[in-house]
Amino acid sequence: MCGREMPNMLSNGEGAFICQDCIELGHDAIMQMQKKDKSKQWNVNVENLPSPADIKAFLDQYVIGQDDAKKYLSVAVYNHYKRLIQQKDDDGVEIEKSNIILVGSTGTGKTLLARTIAKMLQVPFAIVDATVLTEAGYVGEDVESLLVRLLQDADYDLEKAERGVVFIDEIDKIARKSDNPSITRDVSGEGVQQGLLKLLEGSVVNVPPQGGRKHPEQEFVHVNTRNILFICGGAFDGIERKIAQRLNTQVVGFDASQKQKIDKNNLLKYIAPQDLKSFGLIPEIIGRLPILTYLEPLDRNALRSILTEPKNAIVKQYQKLLAMDSVKLTFAPEALDYIVDKALEYHLGARGLRGLTETIMVDVMYEVPSHKDMKTFEVTLALAQEKIEKADQLRLQNAI
Ligand code: ADP
Repeated sequence: MCGREMPNMLSNGEGAFICQDCIELGHDAIMQMQKKDKSKQWNVNVENLPSPADIKAFLDQYVIGQDDAKKYLSVAVYNHYKRLIQQKDDDGVEIEKSNIILVGSTGTGKTLLARTIAKMLQVPFAIVDATVLTEAGYVGEDVESLLVRLLQDADYDLEKAERGVVFIDEIDKIARKSDNPSITRDVSGEGVQQGLLKLLEGSVVNVPPQGGRKHPEQEFVHVNTRNILFICGGAFDGIERKIAQRLNTQVVGFDASQKQKIDKNNLLKYIAPQDLKSFGLIPEIIGRLPILTYLEPLDRNALRSILTEPKNAIVKQYQKLLAMDSVKLTFAPEALDYIVDKALEYHLGARGLRGLTETIMVDVMYEVPSHKDMKTFEVTLALAQEKIEKADQLRLQNAI
């Protein structure tokens, strides 16, 4: 109580009063505390390091399946932590960066994994599409621009940005078009790969703070990428053929009985660095992405789980939205199965689930707030079919 007169006080309606000055003081105190908490985030030491199993358990809350990728990521992140806290020993052993490359079709959870890792580490996170990057001097974004995004996410706190995570999507799109560098000089692909090298290996990069083109008089921010974790992702369409070719030649040379054991439906699980090279990544890039893992195609069961199980599941999001209108939303199991069937039919994978659910929910979300007496709403199979078939017909008409 600061001794101010009652009329100047704000009330919470339950008999508690506070004046504006006290609110401001309280706000400042909370901000200070939060700042201290944030600075504590980096007081990680060997004793309180989250174990790879802890990291995987965190990923499990948000990402369905993909156990192999999760394990590789967990170990890589664990080692990344260790590397950040390593003491300078005299033994000359320096732990190298464990940048990661994730190979898997679109919509299987590559970005989600990278984003979830950043959420767990509570570090700045930036996603960049490799296709917009170009060699310095060409039209498009310079490779340094991806550090601008990271700086922005870190509110221009350089120290924070230098411990962030960068996800470079569609890394396969900057592959050299031919495995033989002498045949085609492919500027857009190989040039960008060369540009990325220095970022991946760890060096001080001059970054124009506001992004955009470099300007001679502009002041640069010097970002050290030594402790930035880079996670690259790509679909690498057709790489299965390269894997099969390699396996065939290897297996024939050894033991024919091995050939039977190969799971031909999921060749990606045998992916090796040399396949990335055959696809057109330059060996230097592959060397700087030492952790290579794959994501599996999502089957019916996985898609069904994605709808309801993750912490941030699509169904839970709509339930939360309607709960704000005091309506309890439920989905009939057959309606959920139908959404999964449609996502499979349209070959949309997990990406389709969200769009399909939105198509069903848009009218519901339009109507519900006007019915103040409504307490519950169930999405039935009939409703799901009606909405999606209507949308299909509309698309068909528009196409004609
Ligand atoms: P990618 O980067 O592999 O193309 P994303 O991670 O962007 O795919 O996935 C697209 C969307 O699909 C995500 O927002 C997420 O909701 C969902 N999704 C994809 N894979 C999974 C998964 N394994 N577990 C949970 N959700 C997933």
